Amino acid sequence: MTVPSRVTLKPGDTIGILGGGQLGRMLAMAAARLGLRCRVFSPDPDSPAFDVVANATCAEYADVEALELFAAEVDVITYEFENVPAASAMILAARRPVLPERKILETTQDRLIEKDFVKGLGIRTADYADVSSPQALRAAIARIGLPAVLKTRRFGYDGKGQTILRAIDDADRAWADLGTKSAILEAFVPFEREVSVIAARSADGGVECFDVTENEHRDHILKISRVPAALSDALAAQARDIAQRIAAALDYVGVLAVEMFVVNSDGKPDVLVNEIAPRVHNSGHWTLDGASISQFEQHIRAIAGWPLGKPLRHGEVTMTNLIGDEINSYKDWLGVPGATVHLYGKGAPRPGRKMGHVTQVTPVAGPPKSP
Ligand code: AMP
Repeated sequence: MTVPSRVTLKPGDTIGILGGGQLGRMLAMAAARLGLRCRVFSPDPDSPAFDVVANATCAEYADVEALELFAAEVDVITYEFENVPAASAMILAARRPVLPERKILETTQDRLIEKDFVKGLGIRTADYADVSSPQALRAAIARIGLPAVLKTRRFGYDGKGQTILRAIDDADRAWADLGTKSAILEAFVPFEREVSVIAARSADGGVECFDVTENEHRDHILKISRVPAALSDALAAQARDIAQRIAAALDYVGVLAVEMFVVNSDGKPDVLVNEIAPRVHNSGHWTLDGASISQFEQHIRAIAGWPLGKPLRHGEVTMTNLIGDEINSYKDWLGVPGATVHLYGKGAPRPGRKMGHVTQVTPVAGPPKSP
């Protein structure tokens, strides 16, 4: 049986979401506003997304029977995390359209394949090298120079699976600590700022990009996003164009985020692509309160085969993540004039765990901005 790769949903139809974290929760809430139902699949019984949907499947991603039953209950399938196991995606895609398409996961799950793909489009990245042995690491250091960043090819996020090398003597220890033979070495980028572009692409190829977002990390975890980013109009247009080209080259349907570094290249500002996230992204949470249509709604519209919205930005926006114990300050935030508080309903606040976020919008005089 061949399954069509696209669908057009009608209100009352059901979207299957793989993953039950805060992204799945916010996707399901956006779908509900459009009259669409969601069924969430997650192995974790405490999944925050389970709280906002009527139907859930709590099973391991390798549970073939559970995957088949899940697919039978939904009209289209999407995911809120990029590390969906290839075998699970294959089982699901044989039964229902999976959007963004399964082949996109193969590109974005592996930093080497992803960087080769971006470079192949003529888009700049940091210098990088494939590294699969201590000897290869030393050769890569000789070519790329120091400092450099050693990263696992797969399963890295929020700074996990990566380490900065400052001296050649760090190489053997860093290699041993990495715990895998599958890595890349990247030149350390002395960036001026980190930005991201959230782009939505519909099944008919239309693309809508939100305004470029400036991101501040603490301990490798996103802490604050500010919109608009402090970039010239030309550089912002260049960043959006890069996201659009990546989305088109992937024949992407849904929302994706492209993380970039802004660098000073021989006196001229330029952007390098760091990473592609094939999903809604933390740096797009500001759109929930700061724009007329959120990244979550754009994603739902795209995978439903509906027209994308043309979002208007309500002003200058700041999004602050509440990480770990910071969640205990939620009552203070509730009293801050103009602040909109989002709590994810998670259990214990472990260090580094994203527990909620706060958006603050400062309206700007004049007509609404087109993101
Ligand atoms: P990543 O997991 O690749 O998104 O990296 C997490 C964070 O580490 C980035 O947001 C940057 O702050 C930092 N980082 C990653 N790669 C580099 C690099 N090549 N040069 C400088 N900083 C980096």
